[in-house]
Amino acid sequence: MNPPLEAGPPDQYGLVGHPVAHSWSPFIHGMFAKATAQHLVYRLFDIAADDFRRETLRLFTSGVRGLNITLPHKQAAAELVNELTPRATRAQAVNTIAFFEDTTLLGDNTDGVGLICDLERNLQVDLADKRVLLLGAGGAARGVIGPLLERELRVLTIANRTLFKARKLAAEFADMGQIGGCTFAELQGPPCDLIINATSASLQGEMPEMPDGLVGEQTLCYDMAYGRGETPFTLWARSLHARSTAKGWGMLVEQAAESFLLWRGIRPSTQPVLAALAQHT
Ligand code: NDP
Repeated sequence: MNPPLEAGPPDQYGLVGHPVAHSWSPFIHGMFAKATAQHLVYRLFDIAADDFRRETLRLFTSGVRGLNITLPHKQAAAELVNELTPRATRAQAVNTIAFFEDTTLLGDNTDGVGLICDLERNLQVDLADKRVLLLGAGGAARGVIGPLLERELRVLTIANRTLFKARKLAAEFADMGQIGGCTFAELQGPPCDLIINATSASLQGEMPEMPDGLVGEQTLCYDMAYGRGETPFTLWARSLHARSTAKGWGMLVEQAAESFLLWRGIRPSTQPVLAALAQHT
Protein backbone atom coordinates (compact mmCIF):
# COMPACT_ATOMS: atom_id res chain seq x y z
CA MET A 1 0.00 0.00 0.00
CA ASN A 2 1.20 3.55 -0.74
CA PRO A 3 2.21 5.71 2.25
CA PRO A 4 -0.30 8.45 3.19
CA LEU A 5 -0.02 11.74 1.26
CA GLU A 6 1.63 14.68 3.06
CA ALA A 7 -0.60 17.32 4.58
CA GLY A 8 -0.35 20.96 3.41
CA PRO A 9 -0.74 22.50 -0.03
CA PRO A 10 0.42 20.38 -2.97
CA ASP A 11 3.68 21.20 -4.76
CA GLN A 12 3.00 23.02 -8.01
CA TYR A 13 4.14 21.92 -11.46
CA GLY A 14 2.89 22.58 -14.95
CA LEU A 15 3.36 22.98 -18.67
CA VAL A 16 4.13 26.27 -20.42
CA GLY A 17 3.48 26.51 -24.16
CA HIS A 18 1.34 28.13 -26.81
CA PRO A 19 -1.03 26.43 -27.45
CA VAL A 20 -1.34 23.95 -24.54
CA ALA A 21 -5.06 23.18 -24.36
CA HIS A 22 -4.59 19.86 -26.24
CA SER A 23 -2.02 18.60 -23.73
CA TRP A 24 -2.31 15.26 -21.93
CA SER A 25 0.51 16.14 -19.50
CA PRO A 26 -1.84 16.90 -16.54
CA PHE A 27 -3.41 13.45 -16.97
CA ILE A 28 0.01 11.76 -17.21
CA HIS A 29 1.57 13.58 -14.23
CA GLY A 30 -1.63 13.08 -12.25
CA MET A 31 -1.32 9.31 -12.76
CA PHE A 32 2.40 9.39 -11.90
CA ALA A 33 1.70 11.37 -8.70
CA LYS A 34 -1.01 8.97 -7.59
CA ALA A 35 1.08 5.87 -8.31
CA THR A 36 4.09 7.24 -6.40
CA ALA A 37 2.08 8.98 -3.61
CA GLN A 38 3.49 12.42 -4.43
CA HIS A 39 1.51 15.43 -3.22
CA LEU A 40 1.45 17.71 -6.27
CA VAL A 41 -0.70 19.48 -8.82
CA TYR A 42 0.11 19.93 -12.53
CA ARG A 43 -1.51 22.77 -14.49
CA LEU A 44 -1.45 24.18 -18.02
CA PHE A 45 -0.12 27.72 -18.64
CA ASP A 46 -0.81 29.16 -22.09
CA ILE A 47 1.87 31.83 -22.53
CA ALA A 48 2.69 33.55 -25.84
CA ALA A 49 6.28 34.04 -27.01
CA ASP A 50 6.45 37.75 -26.13
CA ASP A 51 5.44 37.06 -22.52
CA PHE A 52 7.44 33.87 -22.03
CA ARG A 53 10.35 35.19 -19.95
CA ARG A 54 8.36 37.47 -17.68
CA GLU A 55 5.43 35.13 -17.06
CA THR A 56 7.58 32.02 -16.57
CA LEU A 57 9.78 33.77 -13.98
CA ARG A 58 6.59 35.00 -12.29
CA LEU A 59 5.37 31.39 -12.00
CA PHE A 60 8.58 30.39 -10.23
CA THR A 61 8.52 33.35 -7.86
CA SER A 62 4.89 32.53 -7.03
CA GLY A 63 5.87 29.03 -5.82
CA VAL A 64 5.92 26.74 -8.86
CA ARG A 65 8.67 24.11 -8.41
CA GLY A 66 8.95 22.71 -11.87
CA LEU A 67 7.75 23.29 -15.43
CA ASN A 68 7.66 21.43 -18.68
CA ILE A 69 8.21 23.65 -21.69
CA THR A 70 6.68 22.99 -25.08
CA LEU A 71 6.46 24.73 -28.43
CA PRO A 72 7.42 27.39 -29.29
CA HIS A 73 9.53 28.09 -26.18
CA LYS A 74 12.18 25.36 -25.88
CA GLN A 75 15.08 27.47 -27.11
CA ALA A 76 13.96 30.52 -25.14
CA ALA A 77 13.84 28.30 -22.03
CA ALA A 78 17.50 27.34 -22.56
CA GLU A 79 18.31 31.05 -22.36
CA LEU A 80 16.10 31.68 -19.32
CA VAL A 81 17.63 29.17 -16.88
CA ASN A 82 20.90 29.70 -15.01
CA GLU A 83 22.14 26.10 -15.31
CA LEU A 84 21.80 23.45 -18.00
CA THR A 85 22.30 19.68 -17.77
CA PRO A 86 24.87 18.31 -20.27
CA ARG A 87 22.14 17.00 -22.59
CA ALA A 88 20.30 20.36 -22.55
CA THR A 89 23.61 22.15 -23.21
CA ARG A 90 24.13 19.91 -26.21
CA ALA A 91 20.57 20.50 -27.47
CA GLN A 92 20.39 24.22 -26.62
CA ALA A 93 16.72 23.47 -25.96
CA VAL A 94 14.95 22.85 -22.66
CA ASN A 95 11.71 20.94 -22.06
CA THR A 96 12.00 20.64 -18.25
CA ILE A 97 12.91 23.25 -15.63
CA ALA A 98 13.43 22.50 -11.94
CA PHE A 99 13.49 25.33 -9.40
CA PHE A 100 15.62 24.48 -6.37
CA GLU A 101 15.56 26.06 -2.91
CA ASP A 102 18.94 27.77 -3.47
CA THR A 103 17.09 29.59 -6.38
CA THR A 104 18.90 27.63 -9.11
CA LEU A 105 16.75 27.23 -12.22
CA LEU A 106 18.03 24.02 -13.85
CA GLY A 107 17.12 23.36 -17.47
CA ASP A 108 17.06 19.78 -18.79
CA ASN A 109 15.98 18.10 -22.00
CA THR A 110 14.14 14.78 -21.65
CA ASP A 111 12.75 14.63 -25.22
CA GLY A 112 15.70 12.60 -26.52
CA VAL A 113 15.65 9.98 -23.80
CA GLY A 114 11.85 9.86 -24.14
CA LEU A 115 12.01 9.13 -27.87
CA ILE A 116 14.81 6.58 -27.53
CA CYS A 117 12.94 4.76 -24.72
CA ASP A 118 9.81 4.59 -26.84
CA LEU A 119 11.65 3.37 -29.94
CA GLU A 120 13.86 0.83 -28.20
CA ARG A 121 11.78 -0.38 -25.24
CA ASN A 122 8.21 0.03 -26.40
CA LEU A 123 8.60 -0.45 -30.17
CA GLN A 124 11.65 -2.76 -30.11
CA VAL A 125 13.59 -0.79 -32.73
CA ASP A 126 17.36 -1.38 -33.02
CA LEU A 127 18.82 1.95 -34.13
CA ALA A 128 22.41 0.92 -34.81
CA ASP A 129 23.53 1.34 -38.43
CA LYS A 130 20.12 2.68 -39.50
CA ARG A 131 19.42 5.37 -42.10
CA VAL A 132 17.27 7.89 -40.26
CA LEU A 133 15.45 10.93 -41.61
CA LEU A 134 14.32 13.64 -39.20
CA LEU A 135 11.74 16.11 -40.53
CA GLY A 136 11.87 19.48 -38.74
CA ALA A 137 14.55 21.55 -37.06
CA GLY A 138 12.73 23.15 -34.13
CA GLY A 139 12.99 22.61 -30.38
CA ALA A 140 11.89 18.97 -30.45
CA ALA A 141 14.39 18.07 -33.19
CA ARG A 142 17.20 19.73 -31.18
CA GLY A 143 16.47 17.50 -28.20
CA VAL A 144 16.56 14.18 -30.06
CA ILE A 145 19.53 14.56 -32.44
CA GLY A 146 22.27 13.93 -29.82
CA PRO A 147 20.60 10.85 -28.30
CA LEU A 148 19.90 9.44 -31.79
CA LEU A 149 23.51 9.90 -32.92
CA GLU A 150 24.73 8.21 -29.72
CA ARG A 151 23.04 5.06 -31.09
CA GLU A 152 25.62 4.90 -33.90
CA LEU A 153 23.22 5.44 -36.80
CA ARG A 154 24.58 4.95 -40.31
CA VAL A 155 23.36 8.42 -41.27
CA LEU A 156 20.99 11.06 -39.94
CA THR A 157 19.46 13.51 -42.41
CA ILE A 158 17.61 16.57 -41.14
CA ALA A 159 15.11 18.05 -43.61
CA ASN A 160 13.34 21.31 -42.87
CA ARG A 161 11.15 23.89 -44.58
CA THR A 162 13.69 26.59 -43.67
CA LEU A 163 16.98 25.29 -45.07
CA PHE A 164 19.38 27.29 -42.93
CA LYS A 165 17.98 25.81 -39.71
CA ALA A 166 18.52 22.24 -40.98
CA ARG A 167 22.09 23.10 -42.06
CA LYS A 168 22.82 24.86 -38.74
CA LEU A 169 21.62 21.86 -36.72
CA ALA A 170 23.64 19.44 -38.85
CA ALA A 171 26.76 21.57 -38.33
CA GLU A 172 26.17 21.76 -34.55
CA PHE A 173 26.08 17.96 -34.24
CA ALA A 174 28.64 17.06 -36.95
CA ASP A 175 31.17 15.93 -34.31
CA MET A 176 28.81 13.13 -33.21
CA GLY A 177 28.33 11.20 -36.45
CA GLN A 178 27.28 11.21 -40.10
CA ILE A 179 24.71 14.01 -40.39
CA GLY A 180 23.44 16.37 -43.09
CA GLY A 181 20.77 19.05 -43.54
CA CYS A 182 18.58 19.84 -46.56
CA THR A 183 15.13 20.93 -47.70
CA PHE A 184 12.29 18.45 -48.20
CA ALA A 185 12.61 18.82 -52.01
CA GLU A 186 16.31 17.87 -51.89
CA LEU A 187 15.63 14.50 -50.23
CA GLN A 188 16.38 11.36 -52.25
CA GLY A 189 15.99 7.58 -51.88
CA PRO A 190 16.91 4.82 -51.18
CA PRO A 191 14.16 4.33 -48.59
CA CYS A 192 15.04 5.16 -44.99
CA ASP A 193 14.84 2.70 -42.11
CA LEU A 194 13.16 5.27 -39.89
CA ILE A 195 11.46 8.60 -40.63
CA ILE A 196 10.64 10.79 -37.62
CA ASN A 197 8.26 13.70 -38.07
CA ALA A 198 9.38 16.47 -35.70
CA THR A 199 7.61 19.26 -37.59
CA SER A 200 4.52 20.82 -36.07
CA ALA A 201 2.76 20.48 -39.45
CA SER A 202 0.49 17.70 -38.11
CA LEU A 203 -0.89 20.14 -35.53
CA GLN A 204 -2.07 22.31 -38.43
CA GLY A 205 -3.46 19.26 -40.27
CA GLU A 206 -0.66 19.51 -42.85
CA MET A 207 2.06 17.30 -44.26
CA PRO A 208 5.15 18.74 -45.96
CA GLU A 209 5.42 17.92 -49.68
CA MET A 210 7.88 15.02 -49.93
CA PRO A 211 9.67 13.46 -52.91
CA ASP A 212 9.03 9.79 -53.84
CA GLY A 213 11.27 6.93 -52.83
CA LEU A 214 11.84 7.68 -49.13
CA VAL A 215 9.42 5.07 -47.79
CA GLY A 216 9.88 1.35 -48.46
CA GLU A 217 8.33 -1.78 -47.02
CA GLN A 218 10.96 -1.79 -44.21
CA THR A 219 10.42 1.84 -43.18
CA LEU A 220 9.05 2.75 -39.74
CA CYS A 221 7.38 6.18 -39.77
CA TYR A 222 7.14 7.89 -36.36
CA ASP A 223 5.11 11.07 -35.85
CA MET A 224 6.08 12.94 -32.67
CA ALA A 225 2.63 14.53 -32.82
CA TYR A 226 -0.11 12.67 -31.02
CA GLY A 227 -3.88 12.78 -31.12
CA ARG A 228 -6.80 10.62 -32.00
CA GLY A 229 -6.72 8.62 -35.23
CA GLU A 230 -4.33 9.12 -38.11
CA THR A 231 -2.21 12.23 -38.66
CA PRO A 232 -1.41 13.61 -42.15
CA PHE A 233 2.08 12.09 -41.71
CA THR A 234 0.89 8.59 -40.75
CA LEU A 235 -1.65 8.69 -43.61
CA TRP A 236 1.17 9.62 -46.02
CA ALA A 237 3.31 6.78 -44.67
CA ARG A 238 0.48 4.25 -44.97
CA SER A 239 -0.28 5.34 -48.53
CA LEU A 240 3.33 4.41 -49.38
CA HIS A 241 3.06 1.01 -47.62
CA ALA A 242 5.46 1.75 -44.77
CA ARG A 243 6.23 -1.28 -42.58
CA SER A 244 4.58 0.45 -39.61
CA THR A 245 3.59 3.81 -38.22
CA ALA A 246 3.59 5.17 -34.67
CA LYS A 247 2.52 8.38 -32.99
CA GLY A 248 4.30 10.20 -30.18
CA TRP A 249 2.27 8.92 -27.20
CA GLY A 250 5.09 6.72 -25.95
CA MET A 251 7.63 9.54 -26.26
CA LEU A 252 5.24 11.85 -24.44
CA VAL A 253 4.88 9.49 -21.48
CA GLU A 254 8.58 8.52 -21.33
CA GLN A 255 9.82 12.14 -21.44
CA ALA A 256 7.28 12.99 -18.74
CA ALA A 257 8.61 10.17 -16.54
CA GLU A 258 12.14 11.60 -16.89
CA SER A 259 10.88 15.09 -15.92
CA PHE A 260 9.12 13.57 -12.91
CA LEU A 261 12.39 11.89 -11.94
CA LEU A 262 14.24 15.22 -12.03
CA TRP A 263 11.56 16.92 -9.90
CA ARG A 264 10.70 14.17 -7.41
CA GLY A 265 13.63 11.71 -7.48
CA ILE A 266 11.39 8.81 -8.55
CA ARG A 267 10.92 7.43 -12.07
CA PRO A 268 7.31 6.27 -12.23
CA SER A 269 6.30 3.19 -14.17
CA THR A 270 5.09 4.24 -17.64
CA GLN A 271 3.20 1.10 -18.70
CA PRO A 272 -0.01 1.80 -16.68
CA VAL A 273 -0.17 5.33 -18.14
CA LEU A 274 0.36 4.07 -21.69
CA ALA A 275 -2.41 1.53 -21.14
CA ALA A 276 -4.76 4.22 -19.77
CA LEU A 277 -4.02 6.55 -22.69
CA ALA A 278 -4.68 3.74 -25.16
CA GLN A 279 -8.18 3.46 -23.66
CA HIS A 280 -8.84 7.22 -23.69
CA THR A 281 -7.50 8.09 -27.15
P1 NDP B 1 8.87 24.23 -33.00
O1 NDP B 1 7.86 25.30 -33.13
O2 NDP B 1 10.12 24.49 -32.23
O3 NDP B 1 9.35 23.76 -34.48
C1 NDP B 1 8.41 23.50 -35.47
C2 NDP B 1 9.07 22.80 -36.66
O4 NDP B 1 8.02 22.44 -37.57
C3 NDP B 1 10.02 23.67 -37.44
O5 NDP B 1 11.04 22.85 -37.98
C4 NDP B 1 9.12 24.23 -38.57
O6 NDP B 1 9.84 24.57 -39.74
C5 NDP B 1 8.26 23.03 -38.85
N1 NDP B 1 6.96 23.35 -39.45
C6 NDP B 1 5.93 24.01 -38.87
N2 NDP B 1 4.87 24.06 -39.70
C7 NDP B 1 5.23 23.39 -40.84
C8 NDP B 1 4.58 23.09 -42.06
N3 NDP B 1 3.32 23.48 -42.29
N4 NDP B 1 5.27 22.38 -42.99
C9 NDP B 1 6.54 21.99 -42.76
N5 NDP B 1 7.22 22.25 -41.63
C10 NDP B 1 6.57 22.94 -40.67
O7 NDP B 1 8.08 22.96 -32.43
P2 NDP B 1 8.69 21.72 -31.63
O8 NDP B 1 9.94 21.32 -32.31
O9 NDP B 1 8.74 22.01 -30.18
O10 NDP B 1 7.54 20.59 -31.83
C11 NDP B 1 7.40 19.93 -33.08
C12 NDP B 1 6.35 18.82 -33.00
O11 NDP B 1 6.78 17.77 -32.15
C13 NDP B 1 4.99 19.27 -32.43
O12 NDP B 1 3.98 18.60 -33.16
C14 NDP B 1 5.02 18.78 -31.00
O13 NDP B 1 3.72 18.54 -30.48
C15 NDP B 1 5.78 17.47 -31.18
N6 NDP B 1 6.44 17.02 -29.95
C16 NDP B 1 6.04 15.85 -29.38
C17 NDP B 1 6.66 15.38 -28.26
C18 NDP B 1 6.23 14.09 -27.67
O14 NDP B 1 6.59 13.82 -26.52
N7 NDP B 1 5.50 13.26 -28.38
C19 NDP B 1 7.74 16.12 -27.59
C20 NDP B 1 8.11 17.32 -28.30
C21 NDP B 1 7.45 17.75 -29.41
P3 NDP B 1 10.54 26.04 -39.94
O15 NDP B 1 11.85 25.94 -39.24
O16 NDP B 1 10.63 26.17 -41.39
O17 NDP B 1 9.59 27.04 -39.29
